Amino acid sequence: MSKSTESPWRSWLVIGLILVAFISLYKANPNAPAVKDLTLLEFYQLLGQGKLVEPVTRVLDHEKGETYLTGEMETDELVESADKSIDGTPKKETYRVALVPGENEKTMDDLLAENVKVVVREEHSALSPLVINILFMVGMMVLFYFCFFRKMGGGGGFFSFGKSKAKALPPEGDKRKITFADVAGIDEAREEVQEIVEFLKNPEAFKKLGGKIPKGVLMVGPPGTGKTLLAKAIAGEAKVPFFAMSGSDFEEMFVGVGASRMRDVFAEAKKRAPCIVFIDEIDSIGQKRTGAGAIGGSHAYEQTLNTMLVEMDGFDANEGVIVIAATNRPDTLDSALLRPGRFDRQVVVELPTLKGRREILELHGKKITFAADADLDRVARGTPGFSGADLANLLNEAALLAVRKKLEGVDMATLDEARDKVIWGRERKSAGYSQKDREYTAWHEAGHAILQVLLAPDADPLHKVTIIPRGRALGATMALPEKDVLNHTKKYFLAEMRICCGGRIAEELVLGDISTGASQDIATATQIAREMICKYGMSEKFGFQAFMEPSQFTGEDLPPAFSEETSREIDAEVKRLIDAAYADAKRLLSENRDKLELLAKALLEHETMDGRDVEALVKNV
Ligand code: ADP
Ligand code: ZN
Repeated sequence: MSKSTESPWRSWLVIGLILVAFISLYKANPNAPAVKDLTLLEFYQLLGQGKLVEPVTRVLDHEKGETYLTGEMETDELVESADKSIDGTPKKETYRVALVPGENEKTMDDLLAENVKVVVREEHSALSPLVINILFMVGMMVLFYFCFFRKMGGGGGFFSFGKSKAKALPPEGDKRKITFADVAGIDEAREEVQEIVEFLKNPEAFKKLGGKIPKGVLMVGPPGTGKTLLAKAIAGEAKVPFFAMSGSDFEEMFVGVGASRMRDVFAEAKKRAPCIVFIDEIDSIGQKRTGAGAIGGSHAYEQTLNTMLVEMDGFDANEGVIVIAATNRPDTLDSALLRPGRFDRQVVVELPTLKGRREILELHGKKITFAADADLDRVARGTPGFSGADLANLLNEAALLAVRKKLEGVDMATLDEARDKVIWGRERKSAGYSQKDREYTAWHEAGHAILQVLLAPDADPLHKVTIIPRGRALGATMALPEKDVLNHTKKYFLAEMRICCGGRIAEELVLGDISTGASQDIATATQIAREMICKYGMSEKFGFQAFMEPSQFTGEDLPPAFSEETSREIDAEVKRLIDAAYADAKRLLSENRDKLELLAKALLEHETMDGRDVEALVKNV
């Protein structure tokens, strides 16, 4: 036998042995018998009720990279002795609480340190990590040697590196399935995705009815509003597998590895279709590509992004793989992502309204025992701008505080304290959102909204008005263009200018003082006036003429295309247009002051009002 035919045999044997060794190492830790999984909340409750047997063991499982608490708890059942008489000791059960590193791990530490005996146990595989590391290194070297120097890597070359990472795919069925019952307060978004559930449940029937099958869905909304939760619930409702990854996972990957992993995920997903592939934080791989200037690091993302697009284009929507991506920064996304056949459907997941917050609190509060004075309605009122995650966090904090204070149930004072903790904890902008700010905002937005309704049909219909802060704005009045309008009329601009003035005027009329809240409105009104005159020939004074800044012609620093005198006249004309708009808006709002007041009060109470409700209010009074 020649050398070349005998060496492959030996190499395979070595590789086989290494694999067997690895597998047996990782299997060396058989799981304990039935264990009850508790949520942190349930844990606190049981702790408060004295049902946990001390000590609590805190396990750092290095092998699986997780931390959890475990120990014994008393159940409601009692132990039966041999003669069937009941001896009164409760049955015990082993529990387990998973801890999220950095998130609830820390609070747990505080609590446990305080009054509960804790034992810490570190769990490794049978061998110490050092030995494993050494074995791993040796194993890698051997593999490397065979793959490259003996040229026997075959198929995947270097054992297709990315594959090892694809284990992020969760095994199905091991966790409690999440369904729509776990999602509260975002009804609109929930309704929008209902169709996807229908499709996944029964692709054939869906196709027969002629439904248009989505391939990619982009969920847009602030962090913690339940985008991931909703995606999981879609999978849970339709009983299909759920593959999850995060754009940020790809950040520390080598060139090629991200792309390879992406391919693996899609290959696996296609095998298991119908199913859902969820990509959180898509913006970290899907940012606008900066043309030819892409250097270094960005190249790796680009490859990952391209791979994803190729994969998405490559399969037919009928195959039943639905890609759901989440972001809170849709404006930074590369437009290639939004083309037809990719993420062409958007579901907006907004911060919950008052009613939504109430529902979320109720849902998460189910697991908590409350004192008689606890009023979730009041909590909902006191938490504008809170996301679902913030609210869940609030209840967690409250339960924890209640245990500390040795209370029977969570009371109102504790809920208030927890709310403040959550607010200060994240130091969000709305922390300084006082009752006074709310009032100014309510009058301000009511001013815009009333004019929006009064000035229809010159202005677009009112969609909704809200005093829930978002981003830097304290509130918003949203219009709803009936179709995509490409062409605007003079009447439309005049109405828009008056609507812009409405916020400031309402503050002035009712509160007798004015705030900085109108700065954006002032900028918008000024720009409209200027463009009407200089760009669209809509002023009586100047008529059919354009006045452009020279930079608009050539980008060079030339003298203006009009004289200084004209420039002054334009300024005067801008002022005339705006003054007229302001005066007219003031007249309208003064005449409708009763409605203005009704709307502002309604906003203070409900925070958000639908366009139709405002219309009814304006027309009926
Ligand atoms: P996102 O993906 O939008 O950042 P998540 O889905 O990860 O938000 O939400 C984090 C957690 O907050 C959820 O696991 C859930 O406990 C809670 N949560 C957020 N929104 C909701 C909601 N609408 N209903 C119920 N719970 C919610
Ligand atoms: Zn405004």
